[in-house]
Amino acid sequence: QWARVRARLQDEIGEVEYRHWLRQAVLHGLDGDEVTVMLPTRFLRDWVNKEYGALLTVLWQSENKSVRRVDIRTRPAGNASAAPDLAEPLPVLAHGKTTARRDAEDRSETAAPLDPRFTFETFVVGKPNEFAYACARRVADGHAAPGFNPLFLYGGVGLGKTHLMHAIAWELSHREGRDVVVAYMSAEKFMHRFISALRRQSTIEFKNELRSVDVLMIDDLQFLIGKDGTQEEFFHTFNALVDAGKQIIVSADKSPSDLSGIEDRLRTRLGCGMVADVHATTYELRLAILEAKAARAGVPVPGRVMEFLAQKITSNVRELEGALNRLVAHAHLFERPVTLETAHEVLHDVLRAYDRKITIEEIQKRVAEHYNIRVSEMSSARRARNIARPRQIAMYLAKQLTSRSLPEIGRKFGNRDHTTVMHAVAKVNQLIGADPGFAEDVELLRRTLMI
Ligand code: ADP
Ligand code: MG
Repeated sequence: QWARVRARLQDEIGEVEYRHWLRQAVLHGLDGDEVTVMLPTRFLRDWVNKEYGALLTVLWQSENKSVRRVDIRTRPAGNASAAPDLAEPLPVLAHGKTTARRDAEDRSETAAPLDPRFTFETFVVGKPNEFAYACARRVADGHAAPGFNPLFLYGGVGLGKTHLMHAIAWELSHREGRDVVVAYMSAEKFMHRFISALRRQSTIEFKNELRSVDVLMIDDLQFLIGKDGTQEEFFHTFNALVDAGKQIIVSADKSPSDLSGIEDRLRTRLGCGMVADVHATTYELRLAILEAKAARAGVPVPGRVMEFLAQKITSNVRELEGALNRLVAHAHLFERPVTLETAHEVLHDVLRAYDRKITIEEIQKRVAEHYNIRVSEMSSARRARNIARPRQIAMYLAKQLTSRSLPEIGRKFGNRDHTTVMHAVAKVNQLIGADPGFAEDVELLRRTLMI
């Protein structure tokens, strides 16, 4: 069971986070309705408890119905002098919600557990996602017109589709007075369930189970591309549910019309409700998301750092969150404040991946523009200060913002020697230290390059 919980946890939070925080977690015991998990340090314990405690509980409960609590403790150190409070139990879910979640689990064997972090309250709305959000709200309120069936959410990876689906599910199945049976599962899980039902010759039960829910959510439908048998089954389930007036919500990475490899008649049906695009994030949305997450982080995160992250980490929200989490964890661990420097230091691997996109040519062009000189001067032999200085700054930025080596950089600046580049970097560093105006100028250039 523990192995399965761990595997699912890894699926849920991603391998990087898992390795970072939970690799050292060991199962200490399963006693009646209580599971005890041990971590080696107090810091890890608190962090895991805060970030993943609720998720761990939900995952355990879905493996083992009798589990009610997951205790996360620190492993008592080998010597007896370990502070007594290290082993003190820390309840993960002290409030009543656990029971509600258990009920949801019990009601629907079919479904995957919901992530307690994914609610409407924690979803930050901005231009790119406001339409999808409004549709999700509408369906969650139960006031959706027939035109909202199915609700089809699509967009790139890590932009909040799964978050919105879980939010709808929480809202429908857990709000006071609601008794809606929601089944949420990935298309992949749908397929596995279907295939194992086929194998066990229990497809009738599987169908009945699916058709008994009020709301069916299938996440990442693109997984069914090319899986004709499963598509067929989904198509029938889909029709049966819609005919019975049940709500269907589907997500995918593309719009129905672009999902080639999905049968035409299924695509047509998928597109005949409400189709909502979750667009790529904007700088403003990324910043707003960071502000919301930082507010719950427990250590102050300076605005400059959030601006920096929002500018740099543009691909998806998951990476943005991961970066912030690492910064905050680092601050806790070393009891040092979060600053731009620590951000550079702690995140240098992530940042490098983004930096690779910045080219030396781009840097030369921007710097030349900034100082009002020709781009060709970047490679010229002229040594007048008003030309040489911007050239040095461009070299410095090339060193900082790209993964190019000194000789490679030198070559791009009119075949200069690597020692010239080294000298330029040292010179610029020295000026940055000595002249705040100059430092600000360089910083400004750096920032504009990173957008
Ligand atoms: P998708 O399913 O589209 O690949 P997810 O829903 O799994 O993306 O989102 C990835 C991560 O980013 C999740 O942790 C989610 O909570 C977070 N996230 C995405 N969009 C938002 C948002 N608008 N506000 C808050 N968190 C968000
Ligand atoms: Mg998803």
